[in-house]
Amino acid sequence: MSSSNILRRASYSLKPTSMIHRTPWRPPVAKSAQGIYIELEDGRQVIDAVGGASVACIGMSHPAVRQAIKDQVERLPYVYSMQLSNQPAEELADLLTESGNGAFELVGLVSGGSEAMEGVIKTARQYYHERDQPQRKNFISRKLSYHGNTVATLSLSYHPGRRAPYEAILNHDNFHHVSPAYAQRFQRSDETEEQYVERLKKELEDKFIELGPNTIIGFVAETVVGATTGAVPAPKGYFKAMKEVCHKYGALFILDEVMSGMGRMGTMHAWESFGDGEAPDIQAVAKGLGGGYASIGAVLISKEVAQGIRSKSGFWKHGHTYQSSPLACAASIAVQKVIAAENLLENCRNQGAYLASLLRSRLQGENSMASPYTFDIRGGGLFWGIEFDFDTPEAAGIDLKGEGFAMLVQARALEKGLVIMGFTGGSNLEGDKGSHILLSPAYNVTKEEIEKIVDVLVETIEEVLVQHR
Ligand code: PLP
Repeated sequence: MSSSNILRRASYSLKPTSMIHRTPWRPPVAKSAQGIYIELEDGRQVIDAVGGASVACIGMSHPAVRQAIKDQVERLPYVYSMQLSNQPAEELADLLTESGNGAFELVGLVSGGSEAMEGVIKTARQYYHERDQPQRKNFISRKLSYHGNTVATLSLSYHPGRRAPYEAILNHDNFHHVSPAYAQRFQRSDETEEQYVERLKKELEDKFIELGPNTIIGFVAETVVGATTGAVPAPKGYFKAMKEVCHKYGALFILDEVMSGMGRMGTMHAWESFGDGEAPDIQAVAKGLGGGYASIGAVLISKEVAQGIRSKSGFWKHGHTYQSSPLACAASIAVQKVIAAENLLENCRNQGAYLASLLRSRLQGENSMASPYTFDIRGGGLFWGIEFDFDTPEAAGIDLKGEGFAMLVQARALEKGLVIMGFTGGSNLEGDKGSHILLSPAYNVTKEEIEKIVDVLVETIEEVLVQHR
Protein backbone atom coordinates (compact mmCIF):
# COMPACT_ATOMS: atom_id res chain seq x y z
CA MET A 1 0.00 0.00 0.00
CA SER A 2 1.47 3.31 -1.00
CA SER A 3 1.02 6.24 1.31
CA SER A 4 0.39 9.75 0.21
CA ASN A 5 0.65 13.16 1.76
CA ILE A 6 -2.51 14.54 0.13
CA LEU A 7 -4.49 16.40 2.76
CA ARG A 8 -8.12 15.39 3.12
CA ARG A 9 -10.71 16.43 5.64
CA ALA A 10 -9.97 14.56 8.81
CA SER A 11 -11.55 13.39 11.96
CA TYR A 12 -8.89 10.95 13.07
CA SER A 13 -5.14 10.72 13.08
CA LEU A 14 -2.45 10.60 10.46
CA LYS A 15 -1.75 6.91 11.04
CA PRO A 16 -1.34 4.35 9.58
CA THR A 17 -0.57 6.39 6.47
CA SER A 18 0.06 10.09 6.09
CA MET A 19 -3.30 10.48 4.35
CA ILE A 20 -5.96 12.27 6.38
CA HIS A 21 -9.35 10.68 5.90
CA ARG A 22 -12.76 12.18 6.22
CA THR A 23 -13.93 9.32 8.41
CA PRO A 24 -12.71 7.99 11.76
CA TRP A 25 -11.73 4.78 9.99
CA ARG A 26 -9.48 4.22 7.03
CA PRO A 27 -11.75 3.46 4.07
CA PRO A 28 -10.86 0.74 1.56
CA VAL A 29 -9.03 2.00 -1.52
CA ALA A 30 -10.94 1.99 -4.81
CA LYS A 31 -8.98 1.00 -7.88
CA SER A 32 -11.30 1.13 -10.86
CA ALA A 33 -14.98 1.26 -11.69
CA GLN A 34 -17.41 0.34 -14.41
CA GLY A 35 -21.06 1.33 -14.27
CA ILE A 36 -22.14 0.99 -10.64
CA TYR A 37 -19.42 -1.57 -9.84
CA ILE A 38 -16.25 -0.46 -8.07
CA GLU A 39 -13.21 -2.67 -7.79
CA LEU A 40 -11.20 -2.30 -4.59
CA GLU A 41 -7.48 -2.67 -4.13
CA ASP A 42 -8.04 -5.88 -2.12
CA GLY A 43 -9.72 -7.44 -5.16
CA ARG A 44 -13.30 -7.18 -3.93
CA GLN A 45 -16.02 -5.66 -6.09
CA VAL A 46 -18.70 -3.48 -4.51
CA ILE A 47 -21.97 -2.06 -5.86
CA ASP A 48 -22.39 1.69 -5.50
CA ALA A 49 -26.04 2.24 -4.57
CA VAL A 50 -25.62 5.92 -3.76
CA GLY A 51 -23.46 7.23 -6.63
CA GLY A 52 -20.72 8.26 -4.20
CA ALA A 53 -22.53 11.21 -2.66
CA SER A 54 -25.40 11.24 -5.19
CA VAL A 55 -22.88 12.22 -7.85
CA ALA A 56 -22.26 9.32 -10.26
CA CYS A 57 -25.51 9.65 -12.18
CA ILE A 58 -24.57 7.63 -15.27
CA GLY A 59 -22.18 5.18 -13.62
CA MET A 60 -18.44 5.11 -14.12
CA SER A 61 -16.32 4.80 -17.20
CA HIS A 62 -18.96 5.60 -19.81
CA PRO A 63 -17.17 5.44 -23.20
CA ALA A 64 -18.78 8.63 -24.55
CA VAL A 65 -17.63 10.68 -21.58
CA ARG A 66 -14.16 9.15 -21.55
CA GLN A 67 -13.79 10.07 -25.22
CA ALA A 68 -15.05 13.63 -24.69
CA ILE A 69 -12.53 14.16 -21.87
CA LYS A 70 -9.67 12.76 -23.95
CA ASP A 71 -10.58 15.00 -26.89
CA GLN A 72 -10.83 18.07 -24.70
CA VAL A 73 -7.59 17.50 -22.85
CA GLU A 74 -5.82 17.34 -26.20
CA ARG A 75 -7.66 20.38 -27.58
CA LEU A 76 -7.78 22.86 -24.66
CA PRO A 77 -7.58 21.77 -21.01
CA TYR A 78 -7.56 25.23 -19.44
CA VAL A 79 -7.97 28.94 -19.97
CA TYR A 80 -8.41 31.62 -17.32
CA SER A 81 -11.97 32.88 -17.48
CA MET A 82 -11.04 36.54 -16.85
CA GLN A 83 -8.98 36.47 -20.02
CA LEU A 84 -10.70 34.04 -22.36
CA SER A 85 -13.96 32.15 -22.64
CA ASN A 86 -14.11 28.69 -24.19
CA GLN A 87 -16.44 26.71 -26.38
CA PRO A 88 -17.44 23.93 -23.90
CA ALA A 89 -18.30 26.52 -21.22
CA GLU A 90 -20.44 28.51 -23.67
CA GLU A 91 -22.18 25.31 -24.82
CA LEU A 92 -22.84 24.11 -21.27
CA ALA A 93 -24.26 27.50 -20.30
CA ASP A 94 -26.61 27.33 -23.31
CA LEU A 95 -27.67 23.80 -22.36
CA LEU A 96 -28.52 24.98 -18.84
CA THR A 97 -30.39 28.10 -19.92
CA GLU A 98 -32.41 25.99 -22.35
CA SER A 99 -33.58 23.86 -19.40
CA GLY A 100 -36.22 24.81 -16.85
CA ASN A 101 -38.67 26.29 -19.34
CA GLY A 102 -36.94 29.65 -19.59
CA ALA A 103 -36.34 30.06 -15.85
CA PHE A 104 -32.68 31.00 -16.23
CA GLU A 105 -30.81 33.51 -18.34
CA LEU A 106 -27.27 33.47 -16.97
CA VAL A 107 -25.01 30.69 -15.76
CA GLY A 108 -21.85 30.82 -13.65
CA LEU A 109 -19.67 27.72 -13.83
CA VAL A 110 -17.61 26.81 -10.76
CA SER A 111 -15.86 23.77 -9.31
CA GLY A 112 -18.45 22.10 -7.06
CA GLY A 113 -21.43 22.39 -4.76
CA SER A 114 -20.03 24.54 -1.97
CA GLU A 115 -18.51 26.92 -4.47
CA ALA A 116 -21.83 27.10 -6.30
CA MET A 117 -23.70 27.88 -3.08
CA GLU A 118 -21.07 30.43 -2.11
CA GLY A 119 -21.68 31.88 -5.58
CA VAL A 120 -25.43 31.88 -4.96
CA ILE A 121 -24.96 33.86 -1.73
CA LYS A 122 -22.68 36.36 -3.43
CA THR A 123 -24.81 36.67 -6.58
CA ALA A 124 -27.87 37.46 -4.47
CA ARG A 125 -25.96 40.09 -2.51
CA GLN A 126 -24.45 41.53 -5.70
CA TYR A 127 -27.95 41.88 -7.14
CA TYR A 128 -29.10 44.14 -4.29
CA HIS A 129 -25.78 45.97 -4.23
CA GLU A 130 -26.27 46.85 -7.87
CA ARG A 131 -29.93 47.64 -7.32
CA ASP A 132 -29.04 50.25 -4.67
CA GLN A 133 -30.48 48.27 -1.77
CA PRO A 134 -27.33 47.90 0.33
CA GLN A 135 -29.38 47.40 3.50
CA ARG A 136 -30.32 43.89 2.29
CA LYS A 137 -27.86 41.68 4.13
CA ASN A 138 -29.82 38.80 5.69
CA PHE A 139 -30.41 35.28 4.47
CA ILE A 140 -33.03 32.94 5.91
CA SER A 141 -32.59 29.20 5.51
CA ARG A 142 -33.88 26.18 7.43
CA LYS A 143 -33.01 24.10 10.42
CA LEU A 144 -32.20 20.68 8.92
CA SER A 145 -30.29 21.86 5.90
CA TYR A 146 -26.90 21.44 4.33
CA HIS A 147 -25.59 23.92 1.80
CA GLY A 148 -21.85 23.34 1.82
CA ASN A 149 -18.68 23.32 3.84
CA THR A 150 -17.15 26.76 3.38
CA VAL A 151 -17.60 29.29 6.17
CA ALA A 152 -20.48 31.15 4.49
CA THR A 153 -22.29 28.04 3.24
CA LEU A 154 -21.89 26.36 6.64
CA SER A 155 -23.34 29.51 8.24
CA LEU A 156 -26.29 29.12 5.89
CA SER A 157 -26.57 25.41 6.73
CA TYR A 158 -28.00 24.00 9.91
CA HIS A 159 -26.11 20.79 10.47
CA PRO A 160 -24.87 20.85 14.07
CA GLY A 161 -22.33 18.07 13.60
CA ARG A 162 -20.63 19.76 10.68
CA ARG A 163 -20.91 23.25 12.21
CA ALA A 164 -19.71 22.40 15.74
CA PRO A 165 -15.92 22.89 15.45
CA TYR A 166 -16.38 26.15 13.55
CA GLU A 167 -19.36 27.64 15.39
CA ALA A 168 -17.22 30.43 16.83
CA ILE A 169 -16.17 31.67 13.40
CA LEU A 170 -19.48 31.18 11.55
CA ASN A 171 -21.54 34.19 10.58
CA HIS A 172 -24.47 34.46 12.99
CA ASP A 173 -25.40 38.02 12.05
CA ASN A 174 -26.44 37.55 8.45
CA PHE A 175 -27.70 33.97 8.43
CA HIS A 176 -30.97 33.04 10.16
CA HIS A 177 -32.99 29.84 10.31
CA VAL A 178 -36.64 28.80 10.36
CA SER A 179 -38.28 25.38 10.77
CA PRO A 180 -37.70 22.64 8.21
CA ALA A 181 -40.51 21.35 5.99
CA TYR A 182 -40.62 17.79 7.21
CA ALA A 183 -44.21 16.68 7.50
CA GLN A 184 -43.56 13.12 8.70
CA ARG A 185 -41.87 14.44 11.81
CA PHE A 186 -43.20 17.92 12.36
CA GLN A 187 -46.72 18.17 10.94
CA ARG A 188 -49.01 18.12 13.97
CA SER A 189 -51.66 15.45 14.23
CA ASP A 190 -54.34 18.13 14.56
CA GLU A 191 -53.45 19.93 11.32
CA THR A 192 -53.86 19.17 7.62
CA GLU A 193 -50.99 19.41 5.15
CA GLU A 194 -52.40 22.74 4.01
CA GLN A 195 -52.48 24.06 7.56
CA TYR A 196 -48.92 22.83 8.14
CA VAL A 197 -47.77 24.77 5.07
CA GLU A 198 -49.69 27.84 6.30
CA ARG A 199 -47.92 27.56 9.66
CA LEU A 200 -44.52 27.42 7.95
CA LYS A 201 -45.45 30.32 5.71
CA LYS A 202 -46.43 32.40 8.73
CA GLU A 203 -43.18 31.51 10.49
CA LEU A 204 -41.19 32.71 7.48
CA GLU A 205 -43.19 35.91 7.24
CA ASP A 206 -42.74 36.52 10.99
CA LYS A 207 -38.99 36.08 10.55
CA PHE A 208 -39.00 38.62 7.69
CA ILE A 209 -40.82 41.09 9.92
CA GLU A 210 -38.58 40.43 12.94
CA LEU A 211 -35.41 41.07 10.90
CA GLY A 212 -36.95 43.89 8.87
CA PRO A 213 -38.41 42.89 5.49
CA ASN A 214 -36.18 45.24 3.54
CA THR A 215 -33.05 43.70 5.07
CA ILE A 216 -33.72 40.26 3.61
CA ILE A 217 -31.78 39.11 0.58
CA GLY A 218 -33.55 35.79 0.24
CA PHE A 219 -34.91 32.54 1.55
CA VAL A 220 -32.80 29.48 0.70
CA ALA A 221 -33.91 25.84 0.70
CA GLU A 222 -32.86 22.47 -0.69
CA THR A 223 -35.68 21.45 -3.02
CA VAL A 224 -35.39 17.95 -1.59
CA VAL A 225 -33.35 17.79 1.61
CA GLY A 226 -30.33 15.54 1.26
CA ALA A 227 -27.46 15.31 3.69
CA THR A 228 -29.27 16.13 6.93
CA THR A 229 -32.32 13.91 6.64
CA GLY A 230 -32.11 11.79 3.52
CA ALA A 231 -34.38 12.72 0.61
CA VAL A 232 -37.23 14.55 2.32
CA PRO A 233 -39.51 16.28 -0.20
CA ALA A 234 -41.48 19.30 0.98
CA PRO A 235 -45.26 19.14 1.48
CA LYS A 236 -47.54 20.17 -1.36
CA GLY A 237 -47.78 23.91 -1.86
CA TYR A 238 -44.78 24.67 0.36
CA PHE A 239 -42.50 26.26 -2.22
CA LYS A 240 -45.32 28.32 -3.72
CA ALA A 241 -46.04 29.68 -0.24
CA MET A 242 -42.38 30.44 0.51
CA LYS A 243 -41.90 32.15 -2.85
CA GLU A 244 -44.97 34.31 -2.21
CA VAL A 245 -43.47 35.57 1.07
CA CYS A 246 -40.12 36.33 -0.61
CA HIS A 247 -41.64 38.24 -3.49
CA LYS A 248 -44.13 40.09 -1.28
CA TYR A 249 -41.13 41.74 0.40
CA GLY A 250 -38.93 42.10 -2.69
CA ALA A 251 -36.56 39.30 -1.63
CA LEU A 252 -35.26 36.35 -3.65
CA PHE A 253 -36.49 32.77 -3.63
CA ILE A 254 -33.39 30.56 -3.85
CA LEU A 255 -33.09 26.79 -4.32
CA ASP A 256 -30.12 24.54 -3.62
CA GLU A 257 -30.28 21.61 -6.04
CA VAL A 258 -26.67 20.55 -5.61
CA MET A 259 -27.81 17.08 -4.59
CA SER A 260 -31.41 16.80 -5.77
CA GLY A 261 -31.05 18.43 -9.19
CA MET A 262 -29.74 17.52 -12.65
CA GLY A 263 -32.13 14.60 -13.08
CA ARG A 264 -31.90 12.99 -9.66
CA MET A 265 -35.67 13.37 -9.06
CA GLY A 266 -36.50 12.19 -12.59
CA THR A 267 -36.79 15.73 -13.97
CA MET A 268 -33.83 17.91 -14.87
CA HIS A 269 -34.57 20.32 -12.01
CA ALA A 270 -36.08 18.89 -8.85
CA TRP A 271 -38.56 21.78 -8.62
CA GLU A 272 -40.07 20.55 -11.90
CA SER A 273 -41.11 17.33 -10.12
CA PHE A 274 -43.60 19.07 -7.87
CA GLY A 275 -47.13 20.13 -8.63
CA ASP A 276 -46.43 23.73 -7.72
CA GLY A 277 -43.27 23.69 -9.89
CA GLU A 278 -41.94 26.97 -8.57
CA ALA A 279 -38.91 28.21 -10.48
CA PRO A 280 -36.37 29.98 -8.26
CA ASP A 281 -34.70 33.34 -8.77
CA ILE A 282 -31.30 31.75 -8.26
CA GLN A 283 -30.35 28.08 -8.08
CA ALA A 284 -27.24 25.99 -7.48
CA VAL A 285 -26.52 22.66 -9.15
CA ALA A 286 -23.44 20.43 -8.96
CA LYS A 287 -22.97 16.67 -8.32
CA GLY A 288 -24.98 15.22 -11.27
CA LEU A 289 -23.84 18.10 -13.48
CA GLY A 290 -20.47 16.40 -13.85
CA GLY A 291 -21.61 12.94 -12.82
CA GLY A 292 -18.28 12.29 -11.08
CA TYR A 293 -16.28 12.82 -14.28
CA ALA A 294 -15.47 16.41 -13.39
CA SER A 295 -15.53 18.72 -10.39
CA ILE A 296 -18.14 21.18 -11.51
CA GLY A 297 -21.04 23.20 -10.16
CA ALA A 298 -23.17 26.00 -11.52
CA VAL A 299 -25.11 29.03 -10.38
CA LEU A 300 -28.27 29.50 -12.46
CA ILE A 301 -29.62 33.03 -12.52
CA SER A 302 -33.11 34.17 -13.55
CA LYS A 303 -33.80 36.94 -16.05
CA GLU A 304 -34.78 39.42 -13.32
CA VAL A 305 -31.57 38.88 -11.35
CA ALA A 306 -29.48 38.81 -14.54
CA GLN A 307 -30.91 42.18 -15.54
CA GLY A 308 -30.06 43.56 -12.10
CA ILE A 309 -26.47 42.44 -12.44
CA ARG A 310 -26.21 43.68 -16.01
CA SER A 311 -27.73 47.06 -15.20
CA LYS A 312 -24.61 48.42 -13.49
CA SER A 313 -21.31 46.58 -13.33
CA GLY A 314 -22.40 44.12 -16.00
CA PHE A 315 -20.28 41.26 -14.77
CA TRP A 316 -20.34 38.52 -12.17
CA LYS A 317 -18.11 39.35 -9.24
CA HIS A 318 -17.82 35.78 -7.95
CA GLY A 319 -15.08 33.78 -9.57
CA HIS A 320 -12.21 31.40 -9.06
CA THR A 321 -9.18 30.23 -10.99
CA TYR A 322 -10.97 27.14 -12.34
CA GLN A 323 -14.19 28.92 -13.25
CA SER A 324 -15.59 27.71 -16.60
CA SER A 325 -12.94 24.99 -16.88
CA PRO A 326 -13.07 23.70 -20.49
CA LEU A 327 -12.18 20.20 -19.35
CA ALA A 328 -14.87 20.06 -16.67
CA CYS A 329 -17.44 21.61 -19.00
CA ALA A 330 -16.66 19.13 -21.81
CA ALA A 331 -17.12 16.24 -19.37
CA SER A 332 -20.35 17.73 -18.10
CA ILE A 333 -21.77 18.23 -21.61
CA ALA A 334 -20.94 14.60 -22.41
CA VAL A 335 -22.73 13.42 -19.25
CA GLN A 336 -25.80 15.48 -20.08
CA LYS A 337 -25.80 14.14 -23.66
CA VAL A 338 -25.70 10.55 -22.36
CA ILE A 339 -28.68 11.28 -20.10
CA ALA A 340 -30.65 12.63 -23.08
CA ALA A 341 -29.52 10.05 -25.68
CA GLU A 342 -30.16 7.05 -23.42
CA ASN A 343 -33.45 8.42 -22.12
CA LEU A 344 -32.17 8.12 -18.57
CA LEU A 345 -34.64 10.43 -16.87
CA GLU A 346 -37.40 8.01 -17.78
CA ASN A 347 -35.35 5.09 -16.47
CA CYS A 348 -34.67 7.12 -13.33
CA ARG A 349 -38.40 7.58 -12.72
CA ASN A 350 -39.27 3.95 -13.53
CA GLN A 351 -36.46 2.30 -11.56
CA GLY A 352 -37.05 4.77 -8.74
CA ALA A 353 -40.68 3.73 -8.46
CA TYR A 354 -39.60 0.07 -8.49
CA LEU A 355 -36.96 0.71 -5.82
CA ALA A 356 -39.52 2.45 -3.61
CA SER A 357 -42.03 -0.36 -3.98
CA LEU A 358 -39.42 -3.01 -3.10
CA LEU A 359 -38.16 -1.02 -0.11
CA ARG A 360 -41.71 -0.56 1.16
CA SER A 361 -42.66 -4.20 0.86
CA ARG A 362 -39.37 -5.52 2.28
CA LEU A 363 -38.95 -2.99 5.12
CA GLN A 364 -42.51 -2.05 5.95
CA GLY A 365 -44.42 -5.16 4.85
CA GLU A 366 -46.31 -7.34 7.31
CA ASN A 367 -43.64 -10.02 7.63
CA SER A 368 -40.69 -7.69 7.63
CA MET A 369 -38.35 -7.89 10.62
CA ALA A 370 -37.45 -4.21 10.08
CA SER A 371 -41.01 -2.99 9.89
CA PRO A 372 -41.43 -1.90 13.56
CA TYR A 373 -38.35 0.31 13.26
CA THR A 374 -38.82 1.67 9.74
CA PHE A 375 -40.35 5.05 10.35
CA ASP A 376 -40.50 6.40 6.83
CA ILE A 377 -39.49 5.69 3.23
CA ARG A 378 -39.62 8.83 1.09
CA GLY A 379 -38.12 10.47 -1.95
CA GLY A 380 -38.62 10.48 -5.70
CA GLY A 381 -36.77 9.64 -8.91
CA LEU A 382 -33.66 7.76 -7.79
CA PHE A 383 -33.30 9.71 -4.55
CA TRP A 384 -34.70 7.71 -1.63
CA GLY A 385 -34.32 7.98 2.12
CA ILE A 386 -35.15 5.36 4.74
CA GLU A 387 -35.61 6.68 8.24
CA PHE A 388 -35.44 4.43 11.31
CA ASP A 389 -36.88 5.04 14.74
CA PHE A 390 -35.88 3.12 17.86
CA ASP A 391 -37.80 5.36 20.18
CA THR A 392 -40.91 3.19 19.96
CA PRO A 393 -42.47 0.57 22.26
CA GLU A 394 -41.57 -2.15 19.73
CA ALA A 395 -37.91 -1.25 20.06
CA ALA A 396 -37.87 -1.63 23.84
CA GLY A 397 -35.67 -4.75 23.75
CA ILE A 398 -33.22 -3.43 21.20
CA ASP A 399 -29.94 -2.07 22.39
CA LEU A 400 -29.70 0.60 19.68
CA LYS A 401 -30.19 4.29 19.52
CA GLY A 402 -31.52 5.75 16.31
CA GLU A 403 -28.41 7.80 15.69
CA GLY A 404 -26.04 4.84 15.47
CA PHE A 405 -28.10 2.43 13.46
CA ALA A 406 -27.62 3.87 10.00
CA MET A 407 -23.85 3.96 10.48
CA LEU A 408 -23.77 0.33 11.60
CA VAL A 409 -25.79 -0.64 8.54
CA GLN A 410 -23.51 1.39 6.28
CA ALA A 411 -20.38 -0.28 7.65
CA ARG A 412 -21.80 -3.82 7.46
CA ALA A 413 -23.20 -3.20 3.97
CA LEU A 414 -19.74 -2.22 2.74
CA GLU A 415 -18.34 -5.47 4.14
CA LYS A 416 -21.04 -7.27 2.18
CA GLY A 417 -20.21 -5.38 -1.03
CA LEU A 418 -22.76 -2.56 -1.02
CA VAL A 419 -22.01 1.15 -0.78
CA ILE A 420 -24.82 3.18 0.82
CA MET A 421 -24.87 6.38 2.83
CA GLY A 422 -25.88 6.52 6.49
CA PHE A 423 -26.48 9.74 8.36
CA THR A 424 -26.19 10.43 12.04
CA GLY A 425 -26.54 13.57 14.02
CA GLY A 426 -29.54 15.08 12.31
CA SER A 427 -30.46 18.48 13.64
CA ASN A 428 -30.74 18.05 17.40
CA LEU A 429 -34.28 19.31 16.87
CA GLU A 430 -36.71 17.60 19.15
CA GLY A 431 -38.46 14.90 17.15
CA ASP A 432 -35.65 14.40 14.65
CA LYS A 433 -34.05 11.04 15.35
CA GLY A 434 -31.25 11.47 12.86
CA SER A 435 -31.00 7.91 11.58
CA HIS A 436 -31.32 7.73 7.84
CA ILE A 437 -30.02 5.75 4.92
CA LEU A 438 -29.79 7.35 1.52
CA LEU A 439 -29.96 5.47 -1.77
CA SER A 440 -29.27 7.25 -5.05
CA PRO A 441 -27.90 4.90 -7.70
CA ALA A 442 -27.03 5.91 -11.26
CA TYR A 443 -29.94 6.74 -13.58
CA ASN A 444 -29.02 3.81 -15.84
CA VAL A 445 -29.34 1.24 -13.04
CA THR A 446 -31.19 -1.89 -14.16
CA LYS A 447 -34.14 -3.70 -12.57
CA GLU A 448 -31.85 -6.61 -11.65
CA GLU A 449 -29.37 -4.25 -10.01
CA ILE A 450 -32.16 -2.60 -8.01
CA GLU A 451 -33.23 -6.06 -6.79
CA LYS A 452 -29.67 -6.92 -5.81
CA ILE A 453 -29.26 -3.61 -3.94
CA VAL A 454 -32.48 -4.16 -1.99
CA ASP A 455 -31.60 -7.80 -1.23
CA VAL A 456 -28.22 -6.92 0.26
CA LEU A 457 -29.56 -3.87 2.09
CA VAL A 458 -32.47 -5.73 3.72
CA GLU A 459 -30.20 -8.64 4.65
CA THR A 460 -27.77 -6.17 6.25
CA ILE A 461 -30.47 -4.32 8.18
CA GLU A 462 -31.79 -7.64 9.52
CA GLU A 463 -28.31 -8.79 10.52
CA VAL A 464 -27.66 -5.59 12.46
CA LEU A 465 -31.05 -5.85 14.15
CA VAL A 466 -30.42 -9.47 15.18
CA GLN A 467 -27.01 -8.54 16.59
CA HIS A 468 -28.61 -5.94 18.83
CA ARG A 469 -31.62 -7.84 20.09
N1 PLP B 1 -25.62 21.74 -1.11
C1 PLP B 1 -26.18 20.54 -0.93
C2 PLP B 1 -27.67 20.42 -0.93
C3 PLP B 1 -25.39 19.40 -0.74
O1 PLP B 1 -25.97 18.21 -0.56
C4 PLP B 1 -23.99 19.54 -0.79
C5 PLP B 1 -23.12 18.37 -0.60
O2 PLP B 1 -23.52 17.31 -0.22
C6 PLP B 1 -23.44 20.81 -0.99
C7 PLP B 1 -24.28 21.88 -1.15
C8 PLP B 1 -21.95 20.99 -1.04
O3 PLP B 1 -21.46 20.45 -2.21
P1 PLP B 1 -19.93 19.99 -2.32
O4 PLP B 1 -19.74 18.87 -1.37
O5 PLP B 1 -19.78 19.60 -3.78
O6 PLP B 1 -19.09 21.16 -2.00
